[in-house]
Amino acid sequence: CGVFGILNHPQAAAITALGLHALQHRGQEAAGIVSFDGDFHVEHTMGLVGDHFSTEAVISKLKGPAAIGHVRYATTGAAMMRNVQPLFAELEFGGFALAHNGNLTNAQSLRRQLVRRGCLFQSTTDTEVIVHLMALARGGSPVDRMIEAVRQVEGAFSLVAITPKQVIGVRDALGVRPLVLGKLGDSYIMASESCALDIVGADFVRDVEPGEMIVLDESGVHSMRPFQQQPRRLCIFEYIYFARPDSVIEGSSVYEARRRIGEELAIEAHVPADAIVPVPDSGVPAALGYATQSGIPFELGIIRNHYVGRTFIEPTDQIRHLGVKLKHNANRRVIEGKRVILVDDSIVRGTTSKKIVEMVRAAGAAEVHMRISSPPTAHPCFYGIDTPEQDKLLAHRFSVEEMREFIQADSLAFISFDGLYRAMGEPRRDPDALRYCDACFTGDYPIRLTDRDERDSIE
Ligand code: 5GP
Ligand code: SF4
Ligand code: MG
Repeated sequence: CGVFGILNHPQAAAITALGLHALQHRGQEAAGIVSFDGDFHVEHTMGLVGDHFSTEAVISKLKGPAAIGHVRYATTGAAMMRNVQPLFAELEFGGFALAHNGNLTNAQSLRRQLVRRGCLFQSTTDTEVIVHLMALARGGSPVDRMIEAVRQVEGAFSLVAITPKQVIGVRDALGVRPLVLGKLGDSYIMASESCALDIVGADFVRDVEPGEMIVLDESGVHSMRPFQQQPRRLCIFEYIYFARPDSVIEGSSVYEARRRIGEELAIEAHVPADAIVPVPDSGVPAALGYATQSGIPFELGIIRNHYVGRTFIEPTDQIRHLGVKLKHNANRRVIEGKRVILVDDSIVRGTTSKKIVEMVRAAGAAEVHMRISSPPTAHPCFYGIDTPEQDKLLAHRFSVEEMREFIQADSLAFISFDGLYRAMGEPRRDPDALRYCDACFTGDYPIRLTDRDERDSIE
């Protein structure tokens, strides 16, 4: 998901809509904006930001100098209007709205306790537990209540919230999901990625730190530390796939990280070839790095139709399969007779790779080699990236050689852990000093998985 919030701007909702548009890659299922001008105004939509939040008629309903917004990519809860964020509620102190990027790992357990205490849930998202925890909190002020609530949840969360007086941002103690602070004239902004600051012409101020709560109010920016300090563990998959390449997260350019992974791949796993072809768009920066390092020409051998959403996000298998075909076509002239190295960011179920290899062969490639800029995805993510259950992960079921056979490539290689960490500017993957979460590749989950463990103990 993507979150955005702004305080003290005469066109807060219009700026939020633009910011969400720049964060659209983080979720295409639904979007919402809540603004405040003495009253709260709430607008939710299924689908893309631009399809709803681009008209004067809609934006003019969202009055006020403060607004927050959300683009949703479902990791918990079904695709339906009730689950669209920001979630809005009337609490003891007044209205409150909340937008969440990430995934809570003890939401089901908290939900059961809250339901027993009489809470009436309106949605099936994990995020709603935070609202109920705030409603029940002993503290009086919105900030005190929010602190009390976020201390009880486990998992990954970058939150942006709005109260009658403040816009509040929080990152979980490990900082799994990104969140940045920006400035636009006299107003402050918080957003999932720096690309959302660029689009509105705001200056990047700094990252919200892991474990930090930032409160924006009339008097400015206030920083708090509600959690015990812990070593940071940003999601490494933000660099590999999820974030936009023009974003800078915790000081590192996403684009440059991807390029360097491509260079490392070319150093580790090269084969003789005539063309380096990215699987667009996610494979492009790594393929550029691979081509530069290997000296083999970079070619757009696969053309992507941009009017189809990310296939992975479509909810049913049938549509997902269809999506892969709708999305990519081989550029026969640059592929025919060539030994092609395809570069993509990840293999999840294997659907994309299998189809692409088949397509490139059908277009006349002499050889098709696949290079992947992440290690094998062998474990599900519980922190806000929508991976399928473990048995559907190709890398859980198969060895690399079996995966090669499955996707019918002449060769298949994944970036090594040390190659990945070198690309991130570290000498190797040092298990004692990890700065990133890499659990979907290693199974080394940095945050307790309370709900999963309870489920497993029942089964
Ligand atoms: P597969 O077809 O193997 O299941 O998925 C791999 C493809 O999905 C890759 O091209 C990759 O770019 C994309 N992908 C990987 N992870 C995600 C994700 O979390 N969400 C979306 N939408 N796509 C993903
Ligand atoms: Fe990111 Fe993977 Fe960790 Fe999920 S498990 S937060 S995708 S690195
Ligand atoms: Mg892709």
